[in-house]
Amino acid sequence: MTTPTKEGSAAVQARRVLVLNSGSSSVKYQLLDMDDRSRLAIGLVERIGEDTSRLLHTPLTGGGAGTRERTGRIADHEAALKAAAEELAADGLGLDSPELAAIGHRVVHGGLRFTEPTVITDEVLAEIERLVPVAPLHNPANIIGIRTARALRPDLPQVAVFDTAFHTTMPEYAARYAIDVETADAHRIRRYGFHGTSHAYVSRKAAELLGRTAEEVNVIVLHLGNGASASAVAGGRCVETSMGLTPLEGLVMGTRSGDIDPAVTFHLKRVAGMSVDEIDVLLNKRSGLVGLCGDNDMREIRRRIEEGDERAALAFDIYVHRLKKYIGAYSAVLGRVDAVVFTAGVGENSAPVREAAIAGLEGFGLAVDAGLNAVRSGEPRLISPDYARVAVAVVPTDEELEIAGQTFALVERLGRTEQPGQAEPLGQVDN
Ligand code: ADP
Repeated sequence: MTTPTKEGSAAVQARRVLVLNSGSSSVKYQLLDMDDRSRLAIGLVERIGEDTSRLLHTPLTGGGAGTRERTGRIADHEAALKAAAEELAADGLGLDSPELAAIGHRVVHGGLRFTEPTVITDEVLAEIERLVPVAPLHNPANIIGIRTARALRPDLPQVAVFDTAFHTTMPEYAARYAIDVETADAHRIRRYGFHGTSHAYVSRKAAELLGRTAEEVNVIVLHLGNGASASAVAGGRCVETSMGLTPLEGLVMGTRSGDIDPAVTFHLKRVAGMSVDEIDVLLNKRSGLVGLCGDNDMREIRRRIEEGDERAALAFDIYVHRLKKYIGAYSAVLGRVDAVVFTAGVGENSAPVREAAIAGLEGFGLAVDAGLNAVRSGEPRLISPDYARVAVAVVPTDEELEIAGQTFALVERLGRTEQPGQAEPLGQVDN
């Protein structure tokens, strides 16, 4: 789209956002057009630093040319981003395009400081680095992604969208652990919560599905992917969430234990002789569904249950029992619940999990209609019968769209979508 500038020449209204999600060994990217919120291209670079690196790039314009694949060692994140940029350029969607308004970065931990999407300055980046001790697995990779993208397009607004931000509205009594206050504060130990962009997006979409505004409804969101978390959202604001200082707390997950008596860790050290690092790996990587039955994919677990596998059945029951406890607890926290909403890989796809989690909760006004629950769809939908007092819904999450939307809203607010000839330098934007 073009509009006349004051000088009379045509300036491009930049309305595209590149979303980057940099993990320790992978980079996922999506280019979105914010005019119609469509995807122009999506891609993934995985196994960065190994000989078997792979880039998969799918352009979604020009009649579906199909996925292109590159194999062979991609040494580091810088090489990964450069390769992705080349693929985008080959489709006429290069990072130098005047239509690109901003790059939105998923950043896992924003601590207490970042409650909103934030334009990345040197000072903001330094603050994200200061949070590494509380997010040692995630923030370093996010930081590398940011540095690389800034080097490629130093003039372009780059925005950090934080997984923790949506949860910063939690009241102090929900966010604090009941441990010595001085010790907690000295080490920034408190409950931060994660998956925030998903909880924000899904709770808003659920309100739309109910034909109400986000301010009018109280919802419980169950984000059940490989990582899993629940949140209680009152009038659009998060008041409770199940993940804590790290993503380890809360629900049973694919490979994480979720809630556990902290004394188990002392026991593993003192009695089982495990090191702290070994316990970390045990609880984060070898627990949850995989620890209980050897599989973390819900499809495989259901298949085994159909064949009469008892370990898989027990793992499923433990998973569902924890979900029920959270639904009950968050119903009490909210007082009035308008909807329980399932999302992410398991929540969107596993009818048996949804059915089992809601079974027996009629006293809470909750019920699932078997016919509606069996429908497979990529659309937000209700699965509760008409008579149910509380709606039960499935709402597919879209973290990339939420990151793009938040990024674009911020650069628009700052008047940064007209390229070139921006009015003022970005400076220290701190929000
Ligand atoms: P991540 O946390 O990695 O983003 P996802 O939200 O993509 O995870 O969820 C991945 C998980 O979703 C898988 O591990 C699997 O357990 C589950 N899943 C995906 N598809 C299905 C399906 N059709 N039926 C049941 N579970 C599914």
